[in-house]
Amino acid sequence: MAFLFESFEGWKNYCTENKKSVVQAVLDYEQEQKGRTEAQIWEGLGKAWVVMKDAVKAGLEEDMTSRSGMINNGAKKVYRYPLPVLSKEFQNLISRALAAKEVNSCMGRIVAAPTAGASGIMPGVLVTIQEIHNVDDKKILEAMLLAAGIALIMEQKASSAGAVGGCQAETGTASAMGAGAIVYCLGGDIDQILNGVAITVQCMLGLVCDPVAGLVEIPCVVRNASAAAIANSSAQIALANVSSVIPVDEVIEAMGEIGSSMETRYKETALGGLAATKTGQAIAKRVLIRDIEIMPDENVS
Ligand code: SF4
Repeated sequence: MAFLFESFEGWKNYCTENKKSVVQAVLDYEQEQKGRTEAQIWEGLGKAWVVMKDAVKAGLEEDMTSRSGMINNGAKKVYRYPLPVLSKEFQNLISRALAAKEVNSCMGRIVAAPTAGASGIMPGVLVTIQEIHNVDDKKILEAMLLAAGIALIMEQKASSAGAVGGCQAETGTASAMGAGAIVYCLGGDIDQILNGVAITVQCMLGLVCDPVAGLVEIPCVVRNASAAAIANSSAQIALANVSSVIPVDEVIEAMGEIGSSMETRYKETALGGLAATKTGQAIAKRVLIRDIEIMPDENVS
């Protein structure tokens, strides 16, 4: 029977006892639990990878102005800015994460990995790691499958939805998926992969979900960029075998505990945090009035 992804320790033990790779364990799960053939799984991953790359490209080349006007081609501005803060690679990483997420905010096609709100993180991370390290597509698809395994456990032990666990659950899960994927692509072992997940989540704990006007735009888009950066810093730390000290399962349990004790106004209700600021409230009012004005007459009464 396939491993059911209840814990990271269980994942590691399953692989050790059954002499299977971390990726094979996810493949077994997908085949057994979803009834898909191995060929269908790789085909689906291949399609998702194309959509991710297309989203990055569209966000960097096409007009990305959201209906609210809060998103206005930020990714392109970052990508083209002549002074990289650290390196051109870092600038590309955050531009790409912004780009794919802007596509989502402008109602374009993305891969929810694990959610639409966090859809810029995996594309930003994967496109950049492939470019810098010449990672082949097969390895990228394997890393996506591995990342799916990470998300499965985080969803079961805590949550991957902002409405349930705050933004730590949403962008935090995507960032952990990204860190695991990077470590895997660069040849890390299972301990390093899990350590990368743990370190990432330690950096994201407590982050609230407070989208302005209830739109997944501000602060969502910039959080995709910072989460992509954290995925890379955590992968760098984990590859060097610097320990997270708190085991990964306990870190995820802490995330779940923080999520359950978080007040409702910080869970995608647009009642707290940035959404509750004076400017946030004014934007919400403006967006609401505009929506009422463009409603067809028959729907207004
Ligand atoms: S703030 Fe909320 S809606 Fe925005 S990315 Fe985070 S969890 Fe998603």
